[in-house]
Amino acid sequence: MDALARAGARFPAAVAPAPLTLPSHASILTGLDPARHGVHDNGAVFPEGVSTLPELLGREGWATGAVVSGYPLRAEFGLDRGFESYDDRLPRGPAGAWAKRTAPDSATAGLEFVSRQEAADPGRPWFLWVHFYDPHDPYTPPARLRHEGDRGGYDGEVAFVDEAIAALERALVSRGRRRELLTVFAADHGESLGEHGEATHGFFVYDATVLVPLAFRWPGRIVPREIPAPARLVDVAPTILDLLGLGVPQGLDGRPLAPLLDGTAIVWDGALVESLQPWLGYGWAPLYAFRKDGWKLIEAPHPELYDLAVDAAETRNRHAAEPRRAAVLRRALEEAVARPSVASGTQGTAPDDAERQRQLRSLGYLGGSVAATAPVPPDAADPKDRLATRAALLDAEAARDRGELVPAIAAFRRVLSVEPSNRLALLRTGQLLVSLGRPADAVAPLESLLVLDPGQGEGRWSLADAYTQAGRFENAEAAWNEVVRLQPRRAAAWSNLGSVRWTRGDLDGAIVAVRHACRLAPSDRDLASNLAQLLLEAARRAATRGDGAAASALSAEATAHDPTLRSRVAPVPPR
Ligand SMILES: [Zn+2]
Repeated sequence: MDALARAGARFPAAVAPAPLTLPSHASILTGLDPARHGVHDNGAVFPEGVSTLPELLGREGWATGAVVSGYPLRAEFGLDRGFESYDDRLPRGPAGAWAKRTAPDSATAGLEFVSRQEAADPGRPWFLWVHFYDPHDPYTPPARLRHEGDRGGYDGEVAFVDEAIAALERALVSRGRRRELLTVFAADHGESLGEHGEATHGFFVYDATVLVPLAFRWPGRIVPREIPAPARLVDVAPTILDLLGLGVPQGLDGRPLAPLLDGTAIVWDGALVESLQPWLGYGWAPLYAFRKDGWKLIEAPHPELYDLAVDAAETRNRHAAEPRRAAVLRRALEEAVARPSVASGTQGTAPDDAERQRQLRSLGYLGGSVAATAPVPPDAADPKDRLATRAALLDAEAARDRGELVPAIAAFRRVLSVEPSNRLALLRTGQLLVSLGRPADAVAPLESLLVLDPGQGEGRWSLADAYTQAGRFENAEAAWNEVVRLQPRRAAAWSNLGSVRWTRGDLDGAIVAVRHACRLAPSDRDLASNLAQLLLEAARRAATRGDGAAASALSAEATAHDPTLRSRVAPVPPR
């Protein structure tokens, strides 16, 4: 990586717009801040209406390929748009969860794209994005690369990626392609490794997680040198388009760095950074930062101002001492945040299923609501004042994951006793009460959660489940209707809606819902069998009222869904 950077124009301290994988990559590929492209958290879905670098290159005739190596970038989250080839083949880990693809496999997959492309059409220019995910928690490098000390695992993962990049480089050089290649090297965010009380990334907006390396290498075209200026990841896409002589779209947050690469000075815009996870996950204040001219403002209930030239570690808050400087940065920050979103269509879709939630949790992400649906109350807690609470919540999560439900619920309730509106604690308390066979008690915490955050998909599901199990079927039907409105691609929600309708005596409504579930999950035999039994009951009723034609049509449909049905007698209600 150092050799690659030394051969090009390099920015040792570029700024990521958010310390999270999906939002940051969405910014790299669009030149837009998260506030404009609409992706604020892992688990969100990249919205329609936003142009991406591969789309623009594809329109110019380029072949476009991506190799991604971590769950938050899988195609279902939408960054595949515009890529002709989007390789998100991840290995399966324990219990069937998606694991990260390791660096050598990612490099090999990248070379496969190049080989395929050059065999198919050697004259066609290509663009390839290879994403390495190894230096993300958990840090599990090969033993020979593990370094000494606390951060030995992390450094080992970086060394592992380094080897893979070297292998990729060697293979490309052996094809004689290096001279023509424009290579851009960047990271999406850093790891805090304990600084500011944060173990990994995604919570705070300190430089520990938002400064990243950035380099542009183009032998013969870009003069190798180090540029200490604060480039941003949103500048990457416009810089690539500009270097290639293609048009740079209007209205981007980033701008071409090309004048800087060839030695011309430019005036630096400030860099906006955000972390909405404290708000979306816990109900604490969201964090925004603005960096300009060597100073950084962090907007929070207790604002922070740092003189980065003398205090790179951000440990001496100068906010009280420098009110005028803080006010200037605050105005710039507010202007940047207020720029209108360019996204249209589906945006910030709620996490779609339990599998997605589980995957994100296994990576240390929270999941939960991804749509900022409610305004932030003025008394929202400052995330830096809630580090102890966060640690307690993470411990409670770990107990729950180990199946220790009673200690887990006690821990979540301890949080609620001091912070009754903590979103994660409300959600988990409700879910655990359902798991412990107390659905009637689960209703109150889950209802409180949805008042605070109506877009909380997982909470909405859990409340519908609690009503159902508590026998409150009228509430349950309304709640399942809301779940399928928020998450229309979730077959199990349609199935549960059908189940509750059947219980309430609405056979036709039940058939509509379960039919829909079967269309969404055509290979689910249990669903098909449930639908068949409902259809058979409808056929009997049709026969009873003398409508033979309807009866035989319904029987035929039932048998098509479940050929074993003939041997059974009485219909039983669905799950
Ligand atoms: Zn990442």
